[in-house]
Formats: sequence, structure tokens, C-alpha cells
Amino acid sequence: MILHLKKDIPSALLVEEAARSHARYHLNGAHYVYVLGAAHKEVPELLKPYVEASFVMETDRQLSSRSYCAQLRKIEIAPDLCIDEAHTLLVAGPCSVESEVQLDQVAAYLQGLGVRVLRAGGYKPRTSPYSFQGLGAEALRLLSAVREKYGLRIITEARDATHIEAIIEQSDIVQIGAKAMYDHGILRACAQSSRPVLLKRGFGATLQELLQASEFILCEGNMQVMLCERGIRTFEQKTRFTLDLCGVAYLRSHSNLPIFVDPSHAMGHAYGVPDLSRAAAAMGVEGLLIEVHPAPQKALSDAAQQLDFAAFSALHATLPAVTAAVGRKLL
Ligand code: PEP
Ligand code: MN
Repeated sequence: MILHLKKDIPSALLVEEAARSHARYHLNGAHYVYVLGAAHKEVPELLKPYVEASFVMETDRQLSSRSYCAQLRKIEIAPDLCIDEAHTLLVAGPCSVESEVQLDQVAAYLQGLGVRVLRAGGYKPRTSPYSFQGLGAEALRLLSAVREKYGLRIITEARDATHIEAIIEQSDIVQIGAKAMYDHGILRACAQSSRPVLLKRGFGATLQELLQASEFILCEGNMQVMLCERGIRTFEQKTRFTLDLCGVAYLRSHSNLPIFVDPSHAMGHAYGVPDLSRAAAAMGVEGLLIEVHPAPQKALSDAAQQLDFAAFSALHATLPAVTAAVGRKLL
């Protein structure tokens, strides 16, 4: 249940009531947004004098739900860069920051194409401890440098909570990776900040679990949350994961959070990425997250799935017509 409570509610009452019933709340301009588990169907007696509006919810998908807020939540990445229903934002870059030269090459290339947001990881959550783990703080320094040099916005991932503050400070969008979807240290740090967040779906997570993870960020007042479908594990082994476009359709109709699709990690092979990108664009998603590398065969992570510049340019040339067909402009 969601309640809008008058701002003049005594703070002791607010704190005690919330502690008693495991409610979470934040101040949103004119009122407190106070969220109780969906099992609560009646307004608590002591809060009644302060209630401006109440919303009975069916599940703990609450602030992210269209039944609470029917409009898609608009995200401001920068004063001149917003995510909304009129645009599909193309985000691209290598899986990992590998060197100053590699990052500079890809940043120069993407800026030349008009891409506004660069992706690249510095803290990589690898499957094996014996593979490249990312350049860490050095990657954040290199990303800041290309941000300045090329005027690109940066999205980079947090592997765990030990470096989340640096990522919040030095990125324009915090990426929470599939393996980190349940990392409460990361979720809670993002909840306390106002930085936009891209929350990727764990490959074994249901849509309900993804949305409940997003609620950990929303309930503390950070409404700048976007979701990313990046493939789930199924019985199929010919592709790395299975891109759940049914899930995208579900999220669009039930959630008010912008949706990105990452075809690179879903497919795991570069050859399938252009078609999946167009399929996602044709669904009218708010964003695409695509891996591109100056020399994919030499990449230190996810080599098989990264597009080279020629393949990315060919894909890029076809996307505006696809987004236009569903009423969106490619950003
Ligand atoms: C990535 O974007 O490079 C990444 C690690 O993705 P995921 O968290 O979806 O596996
Ligand atoms: Mn990757």
C-alpha cells in the first residue's frame, strides 16, 4: 500500500509507525511517499489524519507499477539528455576499459557517429577468477578523461559496494549488472543518491524479482531507475542466454520504468546482435546497450559478442528507420 502523507506529520510518529510495520518512506516535494508491504490493505489508524491519498496494491511491485503511476518515468541523464517515450537512446562501447588507447579509439569513433553515451566496465564481475577483472579505479580515471575530451556521457558498472561511491560520483549512469541485481549494498547506495541507475535483470531472476529489486532504490526517493533485459538462462545452449522480449512486453505494460535491451550479452555472438537490436528497437524500448570494440577478437572480456566498427556502423545506419516506424527518434 502506498500512502501520500502530509509533510507536517510529527516525525516521531512517522519513524515509529514505519519501524513497526516495515514501511519505507521518502519526502517528495509536498508530501511523504510512504510504502507498506502490499499485504496491508487498510490505512493504519494513527496515520489517518495525515493521509492525502492512498493506493492499495496487489503485490510489492508498487512505486514501479503503472497502477500507481501510469506515466512512464522520465529520466534526466543531463540537462540536454532525457529518456522518455519519444526516444530510443543508443548506448554503446566496449565490454571493458582495457587501455587508454582502446578507450580513446572507441570514444572518438562513437562521437563521430553521434552516439551520446559510452558504456565500458572497470569493475568486471567475471565468471572465472583467472580472467581479466577490469582496471578498477584506473578505468574510472580513463572514462572521466574521454568524457571531458569527447563530451560523452558515461555508464559504468559496480561489481560490489566497495567502490559504489566512486562510481556514483564519476559516472552519469550507474550500471548494476545482472550478477549484482541482488547486491543490497549497491542497491541501498544507489537509493541514497540521485544518480540515474540502469538495473540489469539477473539471468535467473523473474520479472517480479527484478521489479522488487528496483523498489529498493525507488522507495528511498531515487526515481531515476531504468531496467535492462539482457537475456535469461533457459535450456538453450546454442546462444549464451535467451533474450526475453516477452518480458520486455510485460515490463512495458506493467511498469512505469524506462526499459533498455542489451542484445550483446543475450546472444553472446556478434552475428546475432544487429537483428536483435532491431527487434528490440521495433518494440519501442527507451534504450539499447550494445558492445562495440575496435578489435573484438583481441578483447579481454566478451570477445565473441562485441561488434567491430564496420558491423556497428552498418547497424547504426538501419536503426533510425526502425525507431521511426514505432514513433521514436534514435538518440
Ligand atoms: C556488461 O554489461 O558488460 C555485463 C557484465 O553485463 P551483465 O551484467 O548483463 O552480464
Ligand atoms: Mn560484457
